[in-house]
Amino acid sequence: MPNGKFVYLKTFGCQMNVHDSEKMLSILAEHNYRPTEDIHRADIILLNTCSVRAKPEQKVYSALGRLERLKEKNHHLIIGVGGCVAQQEGERLLDRIGYLDLVFGTHNLHRLPDLIRDVQASRRPMCAVEFYDEVRSLDISPIPLDGEKVKSYVTIIQGCENFCSFCIVPYVRGREKSRPSENILGEIKALSKRGIREVTLLGQNVNSYGKDLSGGFTFPQLLAHINEIQGIWRIRFTTSHPKDISEELIMAFGKLEKVCKHIHLPFQSGSDRVLERMNRGYTRKQYMEKAEQLRKVCPEIGITADVMVGFPGEGEREFHDTLDLIQRVQFDNLFSFKYSPRKGTRAAHLLDQIGESTKSHRLQVLQELQKGITLKRNQALEGRYEEILVEGLSKWGEEEITGRTSSNKVVNLNGNPDLIGQLVKVRIEEGYANSLRGKII
Ligand code: SF4
Repeated sequence: MPNGKFVYLKTFGCQMNVHDSEKMLSILAEHNYRPTEDIHRADIILLNTCSVRAKPEQKVYSALGRLERLKEKNHHLIIGVGGCVAQQEGERLLDRIGYLDLVFGTHNLHRLPDLIRDVQASRRPMCAVEFYDEVRSLDISPIPLDGEKVKSYVTIIQGCENFCSFCIVPYVRGREKSRPSENILGEIKALSKRGIREVTLLGQNVNSYGKDLSGGFTFPQLLAHINEIQGIWRIRFTTSHPKDISEELIMAFGKLEKVCKHIHLPFQSGSDRVLERMNRGYTRKQYMEKAEQLRKVCPEIGITADVMVGFPGEGEREFHDTLDLIQRVQFDNLFSFKYSPRKGTRAAHLLDQIGESTKSHRLQVLQELQKGITLKRNQALEGRYEEILVEGLSKWGEEEITGRTSSNKVVNLNGNPDLIGQLVKVRIEEGYANSLRGKII
């Protein structure tokens, strides 16, 4: 590949995509492509896309629309689309966007340099969306290109076999593929030697880890082994499926001192009728029991979740069941969305779709409720002592640093930037809607 070329990469969607983007930049750097923030300077423009909801998918098409003029000005520019929209649309994307050069799916990330070279050599668009038995990109450990960091993502499993009726992920990420435990442990040991202190283990459903490996570790066993790695101080993971969260995993919060006191446990709806139609595999009672067990084992645990409003057939009663569950569980925070039909999913064919204005209204009501609960929970921490891992400078001004508690709450405080990468004891002075104010003690 030519020397000193630039790649501009825009990421849409979840942490998995953010991490995949880090991998893309890392493998392209090995081929002399440097990342740039200046799109006009780029020789390659890549969009790493998300199709989990309608909004991020629409954003991809808008972003692509804006690239046409750049291509007209520079015929050597290569424009590529990767990620979930690429996997879902494949050749159709090339048909629809005449100036697009490359479409690469979720199992083809490792081939990116070769695919770019092929496009350059042939000057013809290419599409690579095959699924493989082995997902080679799982084992790419990205080298940070913008300096060493304090924390890092580590992929442990890709794909999902739960087939929730609203979700496109099993179709675009494929079947569950766990990464061999020794590769994960090897990567984390190497990260620790580079000064990484916190790892977040990634997977669409981390609780399924190891089910497809013969004789491998279960997820709690994997956590126990990571807990032994010197130099790693904190372990986080996302996402957990409520139906698969085992007793052993719940106990890990009380037993493994490096496992952070936070769980992201999407519940999606508080109505049994809706949960059944979503094919979620648990009832509201079972969900609340899991939350209760988690708080029993680890009273300080922060619980966050995803929830959607306006799933087909959600009436006022079902919506109120969702509000009721939120009141009862008292989440630390919620990621709430309006349901949007995804092509190819079962729920998209349900006839009792909900109108946009009803969805918007319900979302507003739900978010107002949660806003109050989050504020109350943050204020309840005032006067408490917490340990935070300082992650960087805060956006709130000079001499301001920021970090997170074990329960994943953002704490801003006045402090020396030399503390970045250190565990610091702080007193919580104030709790706000989205963060806490702390003071070093
Ligand atoms: S568990 Fe359900 S919502 Fe989550 S990725 Fe799998 S199918 Fe989608």
